[in-house]
This record gives sequence, C-alpha cells and structure tokens, in this order.
Amino acid sequence: RRDRLAAERGLPHVTADDQPFGLYANVSSDVEVRLALDSGAIGSGLVRTELQFLEADRWPTEADHRRALAPLLAEASGRPVTVRLLDFANDKIPPFLSPPAGLPVLLAHPEAVIAQVRAILDLGRDVGLRIMVPMVSDPSEMAPVRAAVEASAANLGTPVPPVGAMVETVSAVRQIDALCQVADFVSIGSNDLTSEVLDLDRVDPRARTELAAHPRVLSLIGKVVDAAVAAGLPPLTVCGDAGSHPTTLPLLVGAGVRSVSVAVARIDETRWRLRRLDTEQCRALFTDALRLGGAGDVAELVEERIEVVM
Ligand code: PEP
Ligand code: MG
Repeated sequence: RRDRLAAERGLPHVTADDQPFGLYANVSSDVEVRLALDSGAIGSGLVRTELQFLEADRWPTEADHRRALAPLLAEASGRPVTVRLLDFANDKIPPFLSPPAGLPVLLAHPEAVIAQVRAILDLGRDVGLRIMVPMVSDPSEMAPVRAAVEASAANLGTPVPPVGAMVETVSAVRQIDALCQVADFVSIGSNDLTSEVLDLDRVDPRARTELAAHPRVLSLIGKVVDAAVAAGLPPLTVCGDAGSHPTTLPLLVGAGVRSVSVAVARIDETRWRLRRLDTEQCRALFTDALRLGGAGDVAELVEERIEVVM
C-alpha cells in the first residue's frame, strides 16, 4: 500500500476534476522537513515551535529559538514555510507557566515574542516565510505581533513576511470578518476548534479525526472559508488532522478548502485521496452533511457517497 501511494509523488496536485490543491506538512524538526519534501510536500503549512520547549523552565531566548530553528529552516530552503509562534496552550504547557496559559500569556511577555520573531526573521531569509499566531481569540491580538514583526524586520534588514492568524477558537470564528481585516492570511486548526465546539478534552484523539465531521464544526469551517474568500485573503490551509482523515477530507474540500497541511506520515495518502475527489460532489456532500445531527451520521453519508477506503 505504501508503494502504491508513494508512486503518485510526482503527479500533479489536482483533484479528479482538475482543481489545484496545496499539500503541506506539519513539522517540528529538520528531519521531518526532509521527509516531507521527499514525500512531495510543497513546504510546511505549520511549524510547531513549542514542542522543543515543553520542558523549559523559562521563556526561550533568541539563542534558544535560533538553535531550534536553524536546522529546520535550512532544510526548508527555497520552500514556503509558515512558522507558528509558541503555542503554550491546552496540552502543551511547560512547567514555568500555569494553565490555561495560551496566547494572552505570550502577549503579556513582549520580550518573549520579540526573541522568537527575531530568530524566525533572521533564519528565515531563504524560505518563503510566513508567521502565524496560534489560538487567536480576538482580532486585537494581531496588532502587537505585527508591530513586533515590523520593528524586528526593520532592525534586521529583512522583508516583512505575511502575518496570519490560526483560527481554532469559537471566538475567532465569531469575529472572523474583523479578523480577516487584520490578518494577511488565516489557517484553520481543526483539532482545537473541534475540541472547543464539542466540549471535548483536547487529548480525546477523535477531536483530531472523525469528530471534525460534526455539523456544528463543519458549519464553522465553512464560515471561515467564505470569510477568507470574501476578504480577498490567499487560499486558506487546514492544519488540523482532519485534513488527512478519510471521512473529513472530502467534507473540507466540500467547504471550499483547497490546501491542507498534514502530518508527514500522511502526505502520500492525502495526495492519493485528493487526486480522487471531485469538488462538485464534495460540495453537495458538505451541504447535505450540514443538515445532519452528528458526526456519526455525517461519516455514514460520506461512506455512502465517496469511496473512502484504499
Ligand atoms: C490544531 O489545533 O488543529 C492544530 C493544527 O494545532 P495543534 O494541533 O498544534 O494545537
Ligand atoms: Mg491548535
């Protein structure tokens, strides 16, 4: 099966009805970047920078960030890379912070933001760099990050990269039109969004997969896609694991999603699936799924209509 999937690495990234799609990898190390590029990913739609610091006893310094990022960004030279600022939230809180931590705590430490932004800008000169803010819950959270990026870029003499928002809280979805006015791009974090909408524990693995097919989650995702299009933002990327799940991927495509960033091990199968999906059929599927009662009903509908096994 692995060989069959890998055999399509060189083939065009288009759906069965010839709609182009973007295929990126979620990474946190240089090794993962290498594997992702070998598997034919275009670049990274999500660099999780916090994973190297989950045992830290203080905010990482600029030197810490440089050490962590240098090999990764060197390996990704020439490729599009979206680096996410430290996401110390939910299940990823180091011992020096107390729950719930999250973006407000990062923003309360502007020196921690600047340390990371400087490392990213300086080491990201050779990649197609974008900077992404995690767990945004209010459009006003973008301004301090943008200010830090602009000041650091001026200081280092680098270009100012696009600064975008990860949409993964219900509050961000509620304010999506205003958020699109202050973000250069948006990406959807379906893992956290699903957990919050369905009031699940973040460690419930189903939040990463089949539960994203819940009509309440799907309707929020559709709203975000439409808002990003209406605001003229670049095509958004879904970075959550729903982007690589057999029953949720057709629904994302049906919502209008044309770009996903998935775990390195899922790149081949995700390309394989996307190349077999018909966007019109997915659109009808999505519309009908919104009328159903739960994720289980939606999964049944998908299995009825779409060949999801491989
Ligand atoms: C998400 O929440 O969907 C996401 C991609 O971010 P993380 O899994 O790192 O929280
Ligand atoms: Mg998240």
